Amino acid sequence: MLNQTNVNYGKVRSQIRELFEYGKKRKAEIGEENVFDFSLGNPSVPAPEAVRKNLIKLIEESDPVFLHGYTSAQGDYSVRKAVADDLNKRFATGLNPDCVYMTCGAAASLCITLNALLNDGDEVITFAPFFPEYAVFTAHAGGRLVPVASDEKTFQPDISAFEKALNAKTKAVIINSPNNPSGVVYGEETIKALAAALRKHEQATGNRVYLISDEPYRELVFDGVKVPFIMNYYDSAIVCYSFSKSLSLPGERIGYIAVNTAMPNWQDVYAGVCGAGRALGYVCAPNLFQQLVKTVLGTTSDISVYKANRDRLTAALTSYGYTVVKPDGAFYLFVKAMGEDAVAFAERAKDYELLIVPADSFGVKGYVRISYCVSPKTIEKSLPAFKALAESYKG
Ligand code: PLP
Repeated sequence: MLNQTNVNYGKVRSQIRELFEYGKKRKAEIGEENVFDFSLGNPSVPAPEAVRKNLIKLIEESDPVFLHGYTSAQGDYSVRKAVADDLNKRFATGLNPDCVYMTCGAAASLCITLNALLNDGDEVITFAPFFPEYAVFTAHAGGRLVPVASDEKTFQPDISAFEKALNAKTKAVIINSPNNPSGVVYGEETIKALAAALRKHEQATGNRVYLISDEPYRELVFDGVKVPFIMNYYDSAIVCYSFSKSLSLPGERIGYIAVNTAMPNWQDVYAGVCGAGRALGYVCAPNLFQQLVKTVLGTTSDISVYKANRDRLTAALTSYGYTVVKPDGAFYLFVKAMGEDAVAFAERAKDYELLIVPADSFGVKGYVRISYCVSPKTIEKSLPAFKALAESYKG
C-alpha cells in the first residue's frame, strides 16, 4: 500500500494550479492575448541586469569544478557569510555564517524549519489568509496547522484571537508579510503585540514558541512602507527567505534560512535545521545560484511595474464597485467577491476570460486573489472584463 496522504497530494492539484492549467488550455483555444490570467504569483518583470551580467561572469571566470560542484550541505561558507553580513548591515542583527542555511527557495526553507522544530502532534499557528501549502508542509512535519483569523477590515492578525489559540501544544507561529494573498504588510504595532503575546505565554507556561517569518516578498513594498524585521522584535525567530520574487528567479530555486543568534538555544535549533535538511535531502542548494545571489544581495527587480499595476487596478476596480483591500506590498490584490460565494464568483469570472483565485483555500471565504504580476497591457485590456463582471451582478 502506498502512502495515501502523499498520493492524494499528488493527485489533487491546488486550486491555483488547477486554474493555471485551465488557463493554458483556454489560451490554446482562443489565443494567449484574450485570456486575462491572474492566477499565478510568477514575477512578470525580468531579473535585474546585474543577474545576467554576473551569471555570465561567474560562468566565464570561475573554476567550473567549483561552480558546478557540491558545497557544504548547509551552503558555501562565503555565501552564508555574505548573507549574514548583509542582514547585519541592514537590520543591526548579530548573525553569523553558522546560523544561515542555503535552500531551494522559501518552500524548502519552510519544510526544513518545520521539520527541525516539530514533534508529532505539535501545533503551528498562522493567520488567515495564508499560503495554502503551510497546511501540507506542517502536516508532513507531523504537526497541525491552526489558522487564526485576521481583522476583517485591515487583515492584520487578530491578537486577542491569537492569545486564545496559544496552548501547551503550540510549537511555532508562521507569519507572512507582505502577505500572499492579501498584499498587507504587518505593521510594527502588530509585530510588537504578537511578540508580547508570545513572551507572556512563555512566562506563564514555560513554553517557548518559535516565530517563523516567511518572507519571499520582503522587498516588494511600495510608497516607502517598512516591513519590520522580525528578529528585532522577538529572539526565538527564524527567517525563511527566498530570492524567487525579489530577484524574479522562481525557477532557479534559491533562498535561505536564518536562525536568530539572540535565541538562547540557537545552536541546537540550527543543528535541527541542518539535520532536517539532511533527512529531507535538501542539501547543497544549487551552487551557481548560491554564488550569484552573493553578488546581488540587496538588489531587486524593477518593482515600479508592480506598483503601477497595483495603482491602476485598485483605482479601476474600486470605480466599478469592487471592495479592494489596499495592498502595501507583494503583487496580489485581495478583492471581495460579489455575491455570497467566492468560488461561484471566480467561476463566473471565467465567462469574461478572467482567471482569479477564490480565497477559500487561503482560509478566508468571500474573497478572491488577483495576481497582478502581469504586463501593464494585460491590466489595461482586462479592465472592460472586470467592469462587465461587476455589472453582471447589478442586473
Ligand atoms: N511562501 C509564500 C507566501 C509564497 O507566496 C510562496 C510562493 O509563491 C512560497 C512561500 C514559496 O516560494 P519559493 O518559490 O521560493 O519556494
